[in-house]
Amino acid sequence: DPRLRHIKTTIGVVPNFPKPGIMFQDITTLLLDPKAFKDTIDLFVERYKSKNISVVAGIEARGFIFGPPIALAIGAKFVPLRKPRKLPGQVISEEYELEYGRDCLEMHVGAVKPGEHALVVDDLVATGGTLCAAMNLLERAGAEVVECACVIELPDLKGRERLKGKPLYILVEAH
Ligand code: IMP
Repeated sequence: DPRLRHIKTTIGVVPNFPKPGIMFQDITTLLLDPKAFKDTIDLFVERYKSKNISVVAGIEARGFIFGPPIALAIGAKFVPLRKPRKLPGQVISEEYELEYGRDCLEMHVGAVKPGEHALVVDDLVATGGTLCAAMNLLERAGAEVVECACVIELPDLKGRERLKGKPLYILVEAH
């Protein structure tokens, strides 16, 4: 698909951000290119429009950029999965390991009903820990995770192996 080649050219690579040795994949430059941004959303919508998905769960913060337009286009609800202490209502929490230390995602109780079919959206998968925590939240609410969708995969980190056997769909690989 020629759209994928163009999308890849719009993703910035910033060496040594946020710390030395990291090659940061920057999707803000993709957002500056209206064709690349639209093609990104269209590719996900084409894949998910007839898959009976009722929930798009987006991971803070960049899953909040790609998730909502996908949800609107496929007629699903959007559920934000947020960092701790941001959601005002009753939440369930899922902790996960980072390279240094731990982090946590939270979801509002009642946002997702048992038996719903969910898609998890984020900008990038590295070790897969974040997507795994997101899937755990949805499954604890009784939803079935159909797939995880990210714009970028860092394949060297083998994040796919941590996704509890669930499929991962990505648009471009970074190395
Ligand atoms: P993982 O949990 O190790 O898979 O890391 C994925 C999470 O870290 C996602 O929420 C990403 O937004 C963020 N992340 C890690 N590396 C990058 C990067 O190079 N660019 C943008 N986000 C990143």
